[in-house]
Amino acid sequence: MPTDNVKDVKLDENTFMNILDLLVERYGIQVPAHLDKPDPFRVLIGAMLSHRTRDEMTDLAFRRLFSTYGSIEDIVKAPLKEIRRLIKSVGFYRQKAKRIKDVAKILLERYDGQVPRDRVLLVELPGVGYKTADIVLSIAYGEPIVAVDTHVETVSKRLGIVRKKAGYEETRKSIENITPSHMRRMVNGILVKFGKEVCRKLRPRCEICPITIYCEWYARRRR
Ligand code: SF4
Repeated sequence: MPTDNVKDVKLDENTFMNILDLLVERYGIQVPAHLDKPDPFRVLIGAMLSHRTRDEMTDLAFRRLFSTYGSIEDIVKAPLKEIRRLIKSVGFYRQKAKRIKDVAKILLERYDGQVPRDRVLLVELPGVGYKTADIVLSIAYGEPIVAVDTHVETVSKRLGIVRKKAGYEETRKSIENITPSHMRRMVNGILVKFGKEVCRKLRPRCEICPITIYCEWYARRRR
C-alpha cells in the first residue's frame, strides 16, 4: 500500500472549521457531567478522576464525591478511606483518592483554596498532567486552549493535522495553529463525541463518516 503523496495539502483553518461545523451539526458536543461545572476545583477533580476511565464511571464517582464533600475544606478533612469508597467506580481509585486529598491540601495551604490559572503551577500538582491542566484552563477559565485527550489525538492524527508520532505538546500546538481562538475550547467536546461514536480508536466507522473526503487515514486505506 503506497504511503506517499496521499495528501498534498494539509488541512487549513477554513477546512478544519468546516469539519467542526459538520461534526457539531451531525453529532453535537460532548460535555460530561464531571466537566459541566464552571467551578475550577470541580473541573480539576473531574479531570483527575477521568484518567483511564469511561465517562459514565467518572460521572458516578464525581457525583458521589461532591454530594458528600462539597468543598475543598471538606475533602481535606475527609478520611482517605471514605474518598476511596466514594470514587471506587474509577480506575486507580486508591491512587486517585490520595492525590485528590493531596491536591486539595496544597490548594488550601498554598493558593488560599483557589485553583491556579497557570499551566506551570497546575502541572506541579500531584497527578496533574498537561491534559488535566488544559481542561481546567479551557473549561473552567475559558482560555483559548485545545485540551488533547485520546479521542482528540486519534482523530487529529487520522485527519493528518498532526504527525503520527507527535506527543502531547506538538499535537496541541498543531491543532491550535488551524483553530481560531474562539473555537479552541470547543474542539475537545466536538472530537470526543465524534471519536466515541464514529472515529473510534479500534474499528473506526468510516462507512458512515461524513468527513471521509478530508481524511488522510481513509485515503491511504483506499489506495
Ligand atoms: S474516515 Fe474513518 S478514520 Fe477518517 S475521520 Fe472518518 S471515521 Fe475517522
